[in-house]
Amino acid sequence: MSTVRKLTALFFPERCPYCDELIEPCEIACERCYDEIRRKHAPIFCGAHGFRCVSAFVYDAKVRRMILRLKYHERIQYIPQIAELMAEDIRAAYGDNAFDIITCVPMHQTDLRRRGYNQSRLMAQALSSLLDIPYRDTIDKVKKTKKQHHLKYAERKTNLNGAFALIDKESIKGQRILLIDDIVTSGYTLGNCGKTLNRGKPSLICCATIASAHNKYPESTVI
Ligand SMILES: [Zn+2]
Repeated sequence: MSTVRKLTALFFPERCPYCDELIEPCEIACERCYDEIRRKHAPIFCGAHGFRCVSAFVYDAKVRRMILRLKYHERIQYIPQIAELMAEDIRAAYGDNAFDIITCVPMHQTDLRRRGYNQSRLMAQALSSLLDIPYRDTIDKVKKTKKQHHLKYAERKTNLNGAFALIDKESIKGQRILLIDDIVTSGYTLGNCGKTLNRGKPSLICCATIASAHNKYPESTVI
């Protein structure tokens, strides 16, 4: 931990977003609330423009804060706790031994250099260990795009045109692929990555995300 981060933790200790109790920086909630989340939690299903998707959380204010910290404040320590919940949902949604490869929605090189990590890739790699499915990079983001959440629904579709490219067509032929991202909202990002993967003729593509804000866009539910 850097000195700045240590000082920040000293003066602004982490608090559980559900009950305000002090927590460790690696925890998304205190032990009591996390147990409660685990007990009550149920997978959320949606369709992402032709691909099934399961999510662990509804994208509410607390989950939004958690994901923003994960993405922009280097809280990769959250990953083990979140991955544990996602792994349960993936098993419940798709069954055991349902996939040959886990992969993720890629970031553009410029964004990756700036942030230093792709949280969806780290999540997919954590899930790879938990579910015992090999992780592989399968898609490149070849075009820099505007952030999807800054755009209106209609613009989200065209924004991603030509954004993704398949890394190795032959290596995914006939494979069953699980595609990971952080949030599903309009479903266009997952849908576009799924279509890109389909060029390599895999036998199955399903998706999983940390959170779903999909209820805002019921139009994309069509599978
Ligand atoms: Zn709590």
